[in-house]
Amino acid sequence: MKKNILLILLTLPFMTMANTIPLNKLIGQFNEKTDSQFISLDSTELPVNKPGMYLQKEPTEQLIKAYHDFKQQHPDIPFVVVSATRNYTYQNGIWQRKWDALYPKLKDEQKTAKEILKYSSMPGSSRHHWGTDIDITSVSSAFFKENKQGKILYQWLQENMPKYGFCRPYGEGRKGGYQPEEWHWSYKPISQNYLNEYKRLLKENKQSILTKLNFSGHNKITLDELLQEFVFDINSECN
Ligand SMILES: [Zn+2]
Repeated sequence: MKKNILLILLTLPFMTMANTIPLNKLIGQFNEKTDSQFISLDSTELPVNKPGMYLQKEPTEQLIKAYHDFKQQHPDIPFVVVSATRNYTYQNGIWQRKWDALYPKLKDEQKTAKEILKYSSMPGSSRHHWGTDIDITSVSSAFFKENKQGKILYQWLQENMPKYGFCRPYGEGRKGGYQPEEWHWSYKPISQNYLNEYKRLLKENKQSILTKLNFSGHNKITLDELLQEFVFDINSECN
């Protein structure tokens, strides 16, 4: 009996660890600018293409190391953060703009959603909500595949980003989900926990997520199915 109690006490911290990510942070319904876990990239030496971007502290520190190492080898090739944390409100702005452009032409909610989902997330389902994911230098596959500087950058990222904890979630050869994104990198030691919590919630209490999503079309599409595909269909290296 005593042994059992001891065992429960010992395992309790590990059992609760998985629940330390609050739902609002998982689905981006918070303000990264006022959150103490987040740091403004403007206060760091990281080059950015616009002011006002934030990331969690640990991925920022690791990204700075990667940036320095890259610049030592390739001082003339741009290594610029072009997207970092995007909260629900921001993502909803992207979604709404694309919805307004596409829905009048396609006149079908599911088709419109699938078209947007080639490159943009449904609000509440983006890895950019987590403060662990960044886009580097360009969001054009052609830059990384055809441009001389882009090719060097891409090869360096693939070879070196794992050393700093980053994985690439959207590569080639997946069954579904987003198109390949050479520019998108994720800080795995933290994003893995977010992913696991997302999986757990969709399995055990999916209504807790579904009821919080109110973007255009959310109630006319196979929301549950699309969340499964677009959150979970990632490279195995990020799992
Ligand atoms: Zn991205």
